[in-house]
Amino acid sequence: MDKLQVIEIERFAIHDGPGIRSVIFLQGCPLHCPWCANPESQAFHQQVFYTQNRCVGCLACVNRCEQKAITYTDKIVIEQSMCNGCGKCVDACVNDALALVHKEMTITEILDIIKKDDAYYQSSGGGITISGGEALVHPHIVDLVKALKEHKYHVALETTGQVSWSILEQVDAYVDLYLWDMKHYDAHKLVSIGANKEIIVSNLKHISKDKVIARIPVIEDYNLQDIEELFSFISSMGISRVDLLPFHRMGESKYRKLNREYEYRDYASMNKDVLMKFVEIGEKFQLLVKIGG
Ligand code: SF4
Ligand code: SF4
Repeated sequence: MDKLQVIEIERFAIHDGPGIRSVIFLQGCPLHCPWCANPESQAFHQQVFYTQNRCVGCLACVNRCEQKAITYTDKIVIEQSMCNGCGKCVDACVNDALALVHKEMTITEILDIIKKDDAYYQSSGGGITISGGEALVHPHIVDLVKALKEHKYHVALETTGQVSWSILEQVDAYVDLYLWDMKHYDAHKLVSIGANKEIIVSNLKHISKDKVIARIPVIEDYNLQDIEELFSFISSMGISRVDLLPFHRMGESKYRKLNREYEYRDYASMNKDVLMKFVEIGEKFQLLVKIGG
């Protein structure tokens, strides 16, 4: 049975589309934004989270790993690139200090979880949001989106737009709402995070803008000074709704768990008030701007 790499299915979410929703987070992303709040979703291969304060240094995981991916000095270090995702270290750790980042799930297994909240979706006008990573790079994403629509869910899809049109074209008929990441308008700034403006613009041109909300993660040293120009670009694409997502540090502990450097460790979470002025500025571009998702 074909499976998807699911990091989490978040139930009762209220920020990723209308109403009460379940959000399916899939692993793997073509971009590498250094502020990413979900760093575990960037790699395409399986990874292991390590929670140091649960570790007693028993070395059971070191001894169990046939790939020799784990070493111990004053703490466990997992060389994620050597890990084949077998999960033997996780089984060996009786202290729950280790966990695999994603679980392989069939579409039926995913549906079994989200169906539990059907009454909430119906009463609130909610539904299902597929997020990532970049959901559209998954080989079975078309089957998942189709299955959700067959079950009559409102389907929202969060995307970077950095995907092949042939896939986007296949899912488009089943998607009710796109939460489309717009991190910058400048091609060079986009290249710096692995994005290609030409691809994103070309994809966007083929999509009905009525079902697009542009989402801007506002990052102090990346795009905060350029929001007005970004609004102008978004408006020129025919989009009329924008969510501004202030930078936050909630993903910091995940970088530690992956033994990865967090480049934004010295940046404070952004106060929403800093962004309030952009609501009015958005009106100049016929944009309805919301702060937060
Ligand atoms: S998942 Fe397997 S290969 Fe990866 S670190 Fe654990 S035991 Fe080693
Ligand atoms: S098995 Fe668990 S507790 Fe023991 S060293 Fe490994 S991570 Fe730490």
